[in-house]
Amino acid sequence: MTCTCVETINEKLKEHNTRLTQAWVLGGTTHPGLMLQTDQIETGRGKPKAVAMFLTYCPFCGTKYAADEVAA
Ligand SMILES: [Zn+2]
Repeated sequence: MTCTCVETINEKLKEHNTRLTQAWVLGGTTHPGLMLQTDQIETGRGKPKAVAMFLTYCPFCGTKYAADEVAA
């Protein structure tokens, strides 16, 4: 990971019983797996499920996560 913003923010959110949404990543990647929360627009039978969006830049300091780290 190229910055420690996620850890810093999570530590501050902890007192509110809250943490950032992070994907569970296998394989020892250093990418934080930070996800932007999405909602499904239309629900019901046959409607595609909402997709997950992974951030490629740190939303707090703007540091780009390395491309090979995103691919996990
Ligand atoms: Zn950062």
